[in-house]
This record gives sequence, structure tokens and C-alpha cells, in this order.
Amino acid sequence: MLLMDTHADTLYRRSQHPKEECDVTAQKLAQGGVNVQTMALFVGGSPRLERIAQAFSGMWAEGERLKSEGLSHITDYRDAKEGCRAFIYSVEGCDLLDGSLHLLHEWRQRGVRMAALTWNYENCVGTPAKVNQSQGLTPFGREAAREMARLGIAPDTSHLSEKGFWDLLEMGVVPLASHSCCRALCAHCRNLSDEQLRALFSAGGYVGVNFYPYFLDDGGHASLDTICRHVLRLLSLGGEKHIGFGSDFDGIECKPQGLSGPQDFPALLNALRRRGVTEEQIEGMAGKNLMAYFDRIDPRG
Ligand SMILES: [Zn+2]
Repeated sequence: MLLMDTHADTLYRRSQHPKEECDVTAQKLAQGGVNVQTMALFVGGSPRLERIAQAFSGMWAEGERLKSEGLSHITDYRDAKEGCRAFIYSVEGCDLLDGSLHLLHEWRQRGVRMAALTWNYENCVGTPAKVNQSQGLTPFGREAAREMARLGIAPDTSHLSEKGFWDLLEMGVVPLASHSCCRALCAHCRNLSDEQLRALFSAGGYVGVNFYPYFLDDGGHASLDTICRHVLRLLSLGGEKHIGFGSDFDGIECKPQGLSGPQDFPALLNALRRRGVTEEQIEGMAGKNLMAYFDRIDPRG
């Protein structure tokens, strides 16, 4: 079984706090049987473009270092093989585009396969959930989303406003939410409503369940069982072929009980089995669904 994770902030944490022990390391990925870890280039703590550009160069450098630590770099989830330990780049916040599509091409050349249109700052592309749910994509944002679709970069709505999410679906662009949960179970603005989830699944999109306790439970009290509840709800909404895991490791300061890093993925999969999730559904969530999503948005010759 191939196991993939659609979001971690390890590159940012490593570049900003080089002395800290990260949640995600080659060793912990191997312990947990994770084959592909998505590594985000994250805009960071300042909306200033020079600061973001500086942070990105630090994170590209950390990506290079990962290669000398036993992880291979792949540029397509569908290239993953049993036993491989690999990472793939994503972008979290398109602020650096600064009104031009040029950088998208460079990102794609360097292997970026998902890009969150916004982080928590309003940018040239659109408005985040945290700022205003009813303000969507800018005209340039629509252009950027179309170009991403053309390049095979998945437009990631995980931080985007609800309006931005609906804008994408109306345009016929099939997004993914790389690290979000169910709003019906936890009322955080970053989570998706049942209506959004049903629409996303029927459009062929994808959701990676976030492990942040405050996205899983209103009081922030989360265990493996809390994650199972979100998975079961997603399954009940038609998500069987459209969901997986987007841990947010190294971007979250607390974790669910029993899940402190990628090494604990087997415990999570076992908890899902105990809740009646079938082996076929687990294989889908672990990796097959993500590969099928890319088959839909970026068919290979
Ligand atoms: Zn995030």
C-alpha cells in the first residue's frame, strides 16, 4: 500500500528553527510507512514580498538538504513506488506571483504540484477564509487558476475563502483542499461545509484531512478517534474516492493524542479499521485517491 501526505510545513520549520527536532524526518516517515510527503513552501509570518522571497530561497535549500538525508525528490505522485521515501513540493500562498503568471512556470519546472492560492493574507489571487468568506478570486486569480490547471499544478483551496472555492468550481477548475476538515464537526473557518464537500467530491476534487486538534474539535481535544469521525463523515458525504491525509505536521503546535508524527500513521490506519473502514477505502485514502485525482486534473499521455 502506498501512503502519502498532502501537507507539512517542515521546510519552513527547518529554515526558521534549524535546531528544533522536526515532526517529519526521513526516519519517522520510514517508521510510519509514508512513501510521499508533500513539503510546502510557505509564505511565512509576513505579507512583505521580499520577506517571502527570502523565506522561499531558504526552503528550496532545505529541500536540497532532504535529498542528502535519504529522501528522494519526485515531481509526480504517480511516480511513487512501494518502499520509496520521497517528497514533493507544494506552495502555500501565491503571494509571490505578484500579478504575473511567470513564476508558476518556474515552480512547475522545479516540481511544485499543488499551490494554495492564499495563506492567511489577502493577495493578488484572492481572499483567505480567515479574512472574508464572501470575497473570492480576483480577475488575476482566475487567470492564475486556469494556468495552474494547464500546468498540472493542483489549485489548493485549504486557506481560501468560501467564495473563492465556489469561484473555482464555477470556472470548471477542480481544486483540492490539502489540509482541511469537516466544518459540521468543528466550526473553524478553514474547514469545509457539507455543501462544499459534496460539491467538491462530485466535481472530482480531493480533501486531505488535517490533524490539527483545533480543526478536528471545537475545544481542541482530539484523538485518533476524532480523526476517524471526520473520515466517517467525509465517507458519508461521498468522499470514498476523494479523501486522504494532509497532516500539517511541523505547522501545528499540538497534535491529537496518539499521533505525534508520521511514525504514528499505522496507529491511525488501525483506528480506522476498528471503526469499520474497509481495506479498500484505506488504500484509497492512503494514496490511490490522490493519484486518481492527478489522473483527472493532469492526464498522462
Ligand atoms: Zn496551512
